[in-house]
Amino acid sequence: MNISTIAPNYQASKDCLKDKIILVTGASDGIGRTVAIQYALHGATVILHGRDVPKLEMVYDEIVAFNAPVPAIVPLNLSTALEHDYELMADAIARQFGRLDGVLHNAGVLGERVSLAQYSTQAWDEVMAVNLRSPVLLTQAVLPLLEKSTSASVIFTSSGVGRAVRTDWGAYSISKIALEAVNQLFALENQFAHIRYNCVNPGAVRTAMRAKAFPQEDPLQLVTAEQIMPTYLYLMSDDSRDVTGQSLDAQY
Ligand code: NDP
Repeated sequence: MNISTIAPNYQASKDCLKDKIILVTGASDGIGRTVAIQYALHGATVILHGRDVPKLEMVYDEIVAFNAPVPAIVPLNLSTALEHDYELMADAIARQFGRLDGVLHNAGVLGERVSLAQYSTQAWDEVMAVNLRSPVLLTQAVLPLLEKSTSASVIFTSSGVGRAVRTDWGAYSISKIALEAVNQLFALENQFAHIRYNCVNPGAVRTAMRAKAFPQEDPLQLVTAEQIMPTYLYLMSDDSRDVTGQSLDAQY
């Protein structure tokens, strides 16, 4: 069996993320929210990132109610964040935890569904800031914390339109294609054998973003975020310790 088959069929042990400290961006909703809860249920202390503190607090409360390790919250609006803000976030994590064993770059925005000729500068800037600039700057900022782990996993979130351009997907498609390149470069230039970089394409999943992209679609025909968790658990667990520079599909 190769990796593309192993990951979606991964059967995670209950404590596969025990004692790990993992940052999840966009943990307030959709796939990120589900991943954050599942990582906590598999033993991780999860650092919940988002821009909406009340929404993050609901995820926090849910995790605590499961008696999972108590999470932390790091709010930051990625549309407007500057280099210094990422450094402040890394400093806060360093003070509280001293290291990081994983980062899931999950936060994303859809932007406009129009041709590139009609694409607005405002939407372009927001998509590029959230989908592309933030995973690069955040990875740079937390690299010293990842170096302190014995086995660290960085996961970027791609898309079907991150593998090849699709008309009327504009900045979103371009940002995800560039993100695949970011993953490859971080993996190729990596100086630390214990840090790995991979991409995941969730496939079509029942979330607010998907509903915005396909308003005519029946959401009940789509898989839920819970159903794509095996790949997310696999890539974060030490069972994928030797996997790097890959781009995996969470559904096949
Ligand atoms: P959702 O829109 O449901 O959730 C997106 C998350 O990103 C939310 O937590 C949102 O916060 C956060 N976010 C958005 N903008 C910002 C910002 N400026 N600053 C901080 N946080 C922000 O999306 P999905 O769960 O569907 O998508 C998750 C990832 O998966 C994305 O990267 C997406 O591109 C990718 N993907 C999704 C697919 C799908 O079918 N759902 C298919 C392919 C890829 P808030 O709650 O405040 O809005």
